[in-house]
Amino acid sequence: MDAANSQAENELVAGRSCEGCTMCCKLLSIEILQKPRGVWCPHCNKKRGCTIYEERPIACRTFYCGYRRIADIDERWKPSQAKFLINYEAEHRRIAIHADAARPDAWRAAPYYGVIKEWARTAESQGGTVVVWAGPNVTVVSADKDWEMGALREDQYILPVDRRVAGGVAREYVAVEADDPRLGQR
Ligand code: SF4
Ligand code: SF4
Repeated sequence: MDAANSQAENELVAGRSCEGCTMCCKLLSIEILQKPRGVWCPHCNKKRGCTIYEERPIACRTFYCGYRRIADIDERWKPSQAKFLINYEAEHRRIAIHADAARPDAWRAAPYYGVIKEWARTAESQGGTVVVWAGPNVTVVSADKDWEMGALREDQYILPVDRRVAGGVAREYVAVEADDPRLGQR
């Protein structure tokens, strides 16, 4: 989970709650629990919630998904209904959408896809990216194309690369290792 979410409590949208939802306990990786992405946490009771609530890790205590933080989206975006969750990863300038592998294309349905494309357009203009994880498989959503990147490891990064082409510049996305010097140039 993203440490930047420790700031998230200040941004919570009034009237929204986690009641009836435990999707982050499945969709996100939690390093301290060695829990990979897309696998239910062993401490999660799907009906009652976290069975170690008082002792849950700091990453769990401080995480709030986009549904809890973005006022412009509505109840249809609650992860228990949408089957994906949204996380803003400030340090990577990335909106990460974590989809349930059982419903990997749920984010492509209305009303979600059009909004996600708008986010991609805005992110691109500001040097950011919109990335969808469904299990290990990654899709980069850009304004005019969805880039299927295939299966990536947790420790790999996605880099936008601008190539000169006849008549201008074309952007593409490549998977790179954490020590790729181009990451520091962004
Ligand atoms: S996915 Fe979002 S709404 Fe659901 S439990 Fe986690 S933070 Fe709450
Ligand atoms: S420790 Fe609790 S809050 Fe954290 S992922 Fe597991 S069940 Fe969810």
